Amino acid sequence: MSKHLFIKQAAIEAGFDACGIAKAESLDEDAAFMQHWLSEGKHGEMHYLARNFDKRTDPRVLVPGCRSVVVVLLNYFPEDLQPDTAPRIAKYAYPETDYHSVIKEKLASLEALITAAYGPESVASKHQHRFVDSAPILERRWAQRAGLGWIGKNTLLINPDFGSYCFIGILLLNIEVETYDKPIPDRCGTCTRCINACPTAALESYSMDARRCLSYLSIELKDEIPETFQHSVSGQILGCDICSDVCPWNRKKAHPHKHPELKAHTGILQWSQQDWMNMNETDFELHFPHSALRRAGFRKLQQNLRLGKKKQNPEDNANTENEQA
Ligand code: SF4
Ligand code: SF4
Repeated sequence: MSKHLFIKQAAIEAGFDACGIAKAESLDEDAAFMQHWLSEGKHGEMHYLARNFDKRTDPRVLVPGCRSVVVVLLNYFPEDLQPDTAPRIAKYAYPETDYHSVIKEKLASLEALITAAYGPESVASKHQHRFVDSAPILERRWAQRAGLGWIGKNTLLINPDFGSYCFIGILLLNIEVETYDKPIPDRCGTCTRCINACPTAALESYSMDARRCLSYLSIELKDEIPETFQHSVSGQILGCDICSDVCPWNRKKAHPHKHPELKAHTGILQWSQQDWMNMNETDFELHFPHSALRRAGFRKLQQNLRLGKKKQNPEDNANTENEQA
């Protein structure tokens, strides 16, 4: 069996839904795009995105000796969705367990299968070589180059079989494979639904201004969401799926995952705004010991919740302001 086929089968055996392999090369076009994007300050306070630029745009600089980039996808579209009345949480954060640890474990299993077949030197064990949603590597671009989808106008990877509700994991190898997967052409066509639906006008075609995006504002931004965007929050307390939910590829192709490790937290599916408001920090720690919600943290979630309440009860808000006056 060819290495190419073996690795792709091993990825499925390790529990992933899809795998592609790209040749390790410099991402020159992305480097130019990113430099321009960073120079416009569209990364907001995510200063780490500007660091280690050479490493981020060439995996051979990140991991000397790297020859191949193995990219895996894990579908996370949930079986059950939050009711419309619940404070909105992006679907990637539904699971009880933070997806980073789920994918890292599966990547370790994949690596074990590869090293058993091709020897320990097939991976760069002295360097970081497994990545999940981490700054040093442009995961969506590698997924696109590995034939796993295209990057849509909403800047997300869209897989033709799963849509965009997929986690991406990367394993860098020191070995070459016989053939590499071919990129899939862009299938957005004339559609602009994601751009039109974005409540904060964060999207231009194939580019996003993170400073305007609710995913950034509700998680990464340490301060409260600026007033100009508060009216758009509309009960989002962590992340935002709007530009994914409207995408016709998700409407046609997204289907529930089959991964018990990604079981949704029942509270996320059931709790009302008031249940969330009643939660104190101790409750939060108790209910979410391993959740991706911890990345935003209790205080940030509370800030976001208060904005959702403001929006839901403008009269309460006016009354409070009157009382204060
Ligand atoms: S995640 Fe939400 S705020 Fe961000 S670009 Fe998409 S629709 Fe806009
Ligand atoms: S909504 Fe339309 S334009 Fe946006 S990513 Fe999906 S297909 Fe592409």
